[in-house]
Amino acid sequence: MAKRIINFNPGPAALPLPVLDEIREEFLNYRGTGMSILEISHRSKPFEETLNQAVERTRRLLNLGDEFHVVFVQGGASLQFCMIPMNFALEGNPIDYINTGTWSTKAIKEAKHLGKDVHVIASSEDKNFAYIPKTFHVDEDASYLHFTSNNTIKGTQWAEFPKSGPVPLVCDMSSDIMSRPFDPKPFGLIYAGAQKNIGPAGSAMVIIRKDMLQRVPEGIPSMLKYTTFAAENSLYNTPACFVIYTVSLVLKWLEETIGGLEKMETINKEKANILYGFIDRSGFYRGTTEKDSRSLMNVTFRLPTEELEAKFVGEALKAGLGGLKGHRSVGGCRASLYNAIGVNDVKSLVEFMADFQKKEG
Ligand SMILES: *Cc1c(COP(=O)(O)O)cnc(C)c1O
Repeated sequence: MAKRIINFNPGPAALPLPVLDEIREEFLNYRGTGMSILEISHRSKPFEETLNQAVERTRRLLNLGDEFHVVFVQGGASLQFCMIPMNFALEGNPIDYINTGTWSTKAIKEAKHLGKDVHVIASSEDKNFAYIPKTFHVDEDASYLHFTSNNTIKGTQWAEFPKSGPVPLVCDMSSDIMSRPFDPKPFGLIYAGAQKNIGPAGSAMVIIRKDMLQRVPEGIPSMLKYTTFAAENSLYNTPACFVIYTVSLVLKWLEETIGGLEKMETINKEKANILYGFIDRSGFYRGTTEKDSRSLMNVTFRLPTEELEAKFVGEALKAGLGGLKGHRSVGGCRASLYNAIGVNDVKSLVEFMADFQKKEG
């Protein structure tokens, strides 16, 4: 492929072009060190500044007060599925989960593996996870309530976060962190694999409310303890330096070029409205989720037949539109509209979809 395509991949996913350009520009000689970012010490001043930048930008963008730590933990979002219950489950208390799809299901499985008292207080499994549950009762004595803010595979998203009273919220925001502003106060912990919306693969961003650290049991290994990462500013061992560096550039782009999360949310809504609006009017493409639960990040849809879906994905790629195949577990099509995808990219997709319908519909 001679030129870049519009990349609708679900993750690893598109990064802002200016960020990729910046990486290339300073790739061989990182900020006057005479070395690449790939070659410098994680304990060097230039790297520590970059790490601190990533943390500070996260704080500003998400309006995090001093009561939160921001750390980077290797092992992706999936390691958090077990780390959270290991660190935060209170002895003798249940952990509440809301199950909205593949990733929530995996998180539940890991807590059960650890022998925790898991309460699934709501689930949308009865309709193949096509909606976000609206009614549920949070156990008063729950250690925390875990939910997945955006369901990357099923294409649903919490428009408003669940209310849990004094019970801390714990959220997997892997596929929509930094896509919109929200109030961080009710959260005990937020985590996100970097490779969806904020960087490349290899690390999760974990935001931890400081008081939660009092729960961390002594007897778990150092690399699985949040206290280790918090006390050492993510530098207990060698972190995923390149990931953290790229995250810092993506967040700079969000702050300085986009202008923050309110602006980002407006753009993300516009993108999703263009695509869902077209799908709904088409009479050919069909959304797979309930309208009030639709994800602004991952737009899932079907065509009349699986043959047409395969043809659609293939021809789209030839036209320079990549990554439109649905997850292998659900089939169909999916367009991931993360922050790096622009309004014009979505317009190009809709144009292609209209042409395809004219030919095949
Ligand atoms: C991709 C994804 C994960 C898994 O992330 P890894 O970093 O690969 O472990 C977990 N949760 C959600 C919501 C995701 O989209």
